[in-house]
Amino acid sequence: MVEVVGTAPTSAMVITKPVYRHSWKTNIINIKVVTRNSTSLFKMKLTKEQKQEIADQQSQKNVTKRVTSSELEKILFEAIPVLDYGFIRVVDYMGDDSSIVQSARVSYGKGTKKISTDEGLIKYLMRHWHTTPFEMCEIKYHVKLPIFIARQWIRHRTANVNEYSARYSILDKEFYLPEKENLSAQSTSNRQGRGDLITGTQADEVLQILKDDATRTYSNYEKMLNERFDGTIIDEKKTGLARELARMNLTLNSYTQWYWKTDLLNLLNFLFLRADSHAQYEIRVYAEAMLETVKKWVPMTHSAFLDYRVGAVNISSKGKKIIQLMVKGKKVTYESSGLSKREWNELMTTFEFEDKII
Ligand SMILES: Cc1cc2nc3c(=O)[nH]c(=O)nc-3n(C[C@H](O)[C@H](O)[C@H](O)COP(=O)(O)OP(=O)(O)OC[C@H]3O[C@@H](n4cnc5c(N)ncnc54)[C@H](O)[C@@H]3O)c2cc1C
Repeated sequence: MVEVVGTAPTSAMVITKPVYRHSWKTNIINIKVVTRNSTSLFKMKLTKEQKQEIADQQSQKNVTKRVTSSELEKILFEAIPVLDYGFIRVVDYMGDDSSIVQSARVSYGKGTKKISTDEGLIKYLMRHWHTTPFEMCEIKYHVKLPIFIARQWIRHRTANVNEYSARYSILDKEFYLPEKENLSAQSTSNRQGRGDLITGTQADEVLQILKDDATRTYSNYEKMLNERFDGTIIDEKKTGLARELARMNLTLNSYTQWYWKTDLLNLLNFLFLRADSHAQYEIRVYAEAMLETVKKWVPMTHSAFLDYRVGAVNISSKGKKIIQLMVKGKKVTYESSGLSKREWNELMTTFEFEDKII
């Protein structure tokens, strides 16, 4: 277990929950539930006041004429832990599967016919990239995430964002430190990826550096502010530096928070890219947790998304021709294929022609 530097004054939330692992290789859907002892993973802490605010929100009973999603209602406002100190929580949403059907049919009422018909329509829309009906549903998340992940996340422009102001408030004394199982070396084959695990004393050394640097810069942050993370003044005779300046010295594994609102179409685009095995682990785990909320919110769309996006393959016309010839028992070689070696190998991997990989 990695010892972490976060020292927020409140008690830790004890969370034991299944974590879903996805292997999203093209053409393969492989989702299995891995139950982890979360106390070694999640150190996410909420203050007494934050817990009370969530409890208050959850005890609200509002009457509405709008559609609601019973499964999503059950977890509304709940902080779902991600990484060591991060979380996502759904704070609001609009619509459900029936809203997609309703807008696709431009109907006066619910738009729903039979469940099987609605499911068929959603599959059809997904299959044929008839996308606008999915824009009729919206969702708003509260996310706590390391700054270096926020930087990747913010590239997704089709969302509304409001971030915690580190000009106005002091950032939490919490830093992301990877689990040893995620401490990988730079990949030698992929410049944008990870290779084998770093182990033993080298792993300890890396974690110590991450921890020491984050602790030191946070302590200097407090010194410059002349204020501790809990708001107490360090030296009554001194004036603290402006928060907007003091923050520049913090490490990128410091946590920030934001409200992030988007529609279902753009959320699925985000999840397609970020829950994929090519995405960095630290953003992927957020996307995986969000995907579970999508399953509760719009189960038919979730299922169509797994089938027609995640599990689907996109091949070029040359690739299609090669597969057609191979299915007919014709001989096709890399040399005659007209594909690059990388593309050839990707194609052969996708269709599990392992012996043809060169
Ligand atoms: C594995 C991975 C590696 C990456 N590596 C890098 C990297 O090395 N460097 C880097 O800079 N980025 C990198 N990115 C970020 C990537 O290039 C995109 O910026 C990011 O994924 C957001 O995608 P998006 O534009 O589709 O999303 P959104 O911004 O949400 O846009 C959704 C869609 O809306 C449309 N759209 C939005 N804005 C415009 C616009 N202004 N003009 C036209 N159409 C628009 C497009 O169709 C777009 O696909 C990486 C992303 C991934 C998933």
